[in-house]
Amino acid sequence: MTDDIQTGQGPARRAALAPALYLVATPIGAARDITLRALDILASADVLAAEDTRTLRHLMDIHGIKLGDRPLWAYHDHNGAAVRPRILKALAEGRSVAYCSEAGTPVVADPGYQLARAAIESGATVTGAPGPSAAILALSLSGQPSDRFLFAGFPPAQAGVRARWLDEIGRVEATLILYESPKRIHRLLTELCETWGETRDAALCRELTKRFEEVRRGSLGSLRDGLQDAPVKGEIVLVVGHPVVIAPTQGDLDAALTAALGRLRVKEAAAEVAEALGLPRRDVYQRALALKQDGDG
Ligand code: SAM
Repeated sequence: MTDDIQTGQGPARRAALAPALYLVATPIGAARDITLRALDILASADVLAAEDTRTLRHLMDIHGIKLGDRPLWAYHDHNGAAVRPRILKALAEGRSVAYCSEAGTPVVADPGYQLARAAIESGATVTGAPGPSAAILALSLSGQPSDRFLFAGFPPAQAGVRARWLDEIGRVEATLILYESPKRIHRLLTELCETWGETRDAALCRELTKRFEEVRRGSLGSLRDGLQDAPVKGEIVLVVGHPVVIAPTQGDLDAALTAALGRLRVKEAAAEVAEALGLPRRDVYQRALALKQDGDG
């Protein structure tokens, strides 16, 4: 939902847009977070389609864009199969169609994927007006590495699928971006601490661009514990840093080898420790030999 800020008369309806499906990003909170080009497209498209027509009408009112006699169709997960053919027909007739999801970028944890795909397959031009997405803003604010990131969306609800998902996603060496509702965030953080460990760095970003915007940064464990004292409301993105890989010290290596040499022959002990510490086998074998000789000598 957008915050209401009146911004004046807005763009006038312009010359016809080139025929295409325009995926138009809309604000995730502050109504002024919309590009001038997005407003031009909304003012000029022959047909408008929206996940929630009331939300789009409201946004257009704020920016002074008139619908006029243009059609505004609802297109969402529940009516997609029925409405898609109408949109494809409009595109085939050479009309321009602008599509907006409820908030942020269409297709990102929002409807639009099947529409875009069907339009591409039909030979129509598919283009867009880029703009806000909660995932990208949360990544920017999180303080986590942005060289490699994975948008994982909402965690699955079903227990077995969820457990596999947590296991798989947690191993990816990238910053992870998750969406979650405030009702389920404590449960999610508890599960992440159990499966990914409490020490991974994370940022809980809520109500971005809105009045009660807040970013809590810390370990997964501290964010979970913090919810006991200060529960959160509103819309949430959780950003979790890379799995921490700490290189073992010489002392760690020697301790692991000494323990393993008490049970195993040199070759097996070296193989086991190399695997456990992620070190090259040959180096560990040399060290194991040296320790064994020292011990025997
Ligand atoms: N298409 C949207 C985008 O580009 O971010 C996402 C739509 S998804 C249905 C809604 C979820 O996005 C929310 O449950 C929340 O996890 C996240 N979200 C949307 N707006 C947000 C905001 N202002 N602050 C934090 N998270 C937000």
